[in-house]
Amino acid sequence: MLQYLTIPVTPFAQNCSIVWCSETNKAAIIDPGGDLEKLTKAIADRNLQLEAIWLTHAHIDHAGGVAELASKLNLPIIGPHVGDQFWIDRLADQSRMFNFPLSKPFTPNRWLVDGDTVQIGNSTLNVRHCPGHTPGHVVFHSPEAQRAFVGDVLFVGSMGRTDFPGGDHDTLIDSIRNRLWPMGNETVFIPGHGPEGSFGEERRRNPYVRDLQF
Ligand SMILES: [Zn+2]
Ligand SMILES: [Zn+2]
Repeated sequence: MLQYLTIPVTPFAQNCSIVWCSETNKAAIIDPGGDLEKLTKAIADRNLQLEAIWLTHAHIDHAGGVAELASKLNLPIIGPHVGDQFWIDRLADQSRMFNFPLSKPFTPNRWLVDGDTVQIGNSTLNVRHCPGHTPGHVVFHSPEAQRAFVGDVLFVGSMGRTDFPGGDHDTLIDSIRNRLWPMGNETVFIPGHGPEGSFGEERRRNPYVRDLQF
């Protein structure tokens, strides 16, 4: 069964999630934006065996710790979609702009596309490409655990910004309605910032994307 733990990191309180298979203790880390000591301690405390870095998108608060963690622990970098290459190229600029520790560039070992799966131990998660906040944004969905790690696509009561380069409002709405909602109303989502919610509740209450019939 898939287990997870979410730890806010960086001055942006970005939700980094550690996910693992409870049968094997093999783990992946989603969006290690920074505060790597805190993250590696949480992993060691639980005796998890970290095997991969999964990335939803390449904004600095999500990707700032990726290069350092990957080279220190010799981990493969999986994701995001190649549409975020230009954000990876700009990581050093993003570091300076937001006063983050300087982030080195990196090359993902595997780009993801819609419909891919990623594996950790005996758990498989589905990959959906959800552009709009960034062109290469992906989300990771575990049907077995009814959990979705959605980065900055959707928040409780809100959704990702679309005013950055490559962002697009209508595209983001389409991603949420056509790629997140089919995961089911009961599915709990772990957003990149703020508390968890359920898709059903957002369909009722979120002013950006709620269903008209409610
Ligand atoms: Zn973002
Ligand atoms: Zn973010």
